[in-house]
Amino acid sequence: MNFHAQRQRMVREQLQARGITDERVLDTFRTVPRHLFVPDPLTTEAYTDHPLPIGAGQTISQPYIVAVMLQALQLQGHERVLEIGTGSGYQTAILAELALEVYSVERLPELLPPVAERLEQLGYSNVHLAAANGSLGWPEHAPYDAMLVSAAAPDVPPPLIDQLAARGRMVLPIGSPQQQMLTEIEHRQGTLSRRELASCVFVPLLGAYGWPST
Ligand code: SAH
Repeated sequence: MNFHAQRQRMVREQLQARGITDERVLDTFRTVPRHLFVPDPLTTEAYTDHPLPIGAGQTISQPYIVAVMLQALQLQGHERVLEIGTGSGYQTAILAELALEVYSVERLPELLPPVAERLEQLGYSNVHLAAANGSLGWPEHAPYDAMLVSAAAPDVPPPLIDQLAARGRMVLPIGSPQQQMLTEIEHRQGTLSRRELASCVFVPLLGAYGWPST
């Protein structure tokens, strides 16, 4: 199984063919080993055009959707980024390549130890993980230049707006638990602008400012 070749093909056929042009984003997808972030029996499917189950009822997002979110954030490398919904840690690794510091919050504590181990093995030292309700943000390290929410919210959680830096950008799926619109929020001179990027289906953001967990 040649994972390197599969990654190059994923970038050509799933990302470039659909309009992802940011070279930093494309390069990162060419290098981060996605197959290490999926459960063993699914390794051969790691580079397919789908989300995949990662246990605990959660999924690793489809590569294209991760790329759309990252391209929208326009990261240059100097940013402090907040990620909500660590999940498999794949997107966390991509963020660690594209930004300065990554703060990632996951609601399910059992998902974090394997993520921490994998990121350490891959040599990322700029990632900070926490088990908590991410819709409250991570106030201790605010403000953030960029935020990426990878679970579906009914609307933008107000604590996230409070923790977004001036000129900061946030991307999150907004809508019902069944179907959402990937939305970019930009904080410019005290006002927030909204732009719709793509329709999508994420697992629900649970808890305060998300959906009820029972
Ligand atoms: N980017 C991840 C996506 C994982 S799925 C990946 O590609 O692997 C979404 C994740 O959001 C799940 O792990 C889920 O447990 C988490 N989540 C749901 N509600 C949350 C909340 N309120 N705070 C933090 N994480 C949450």
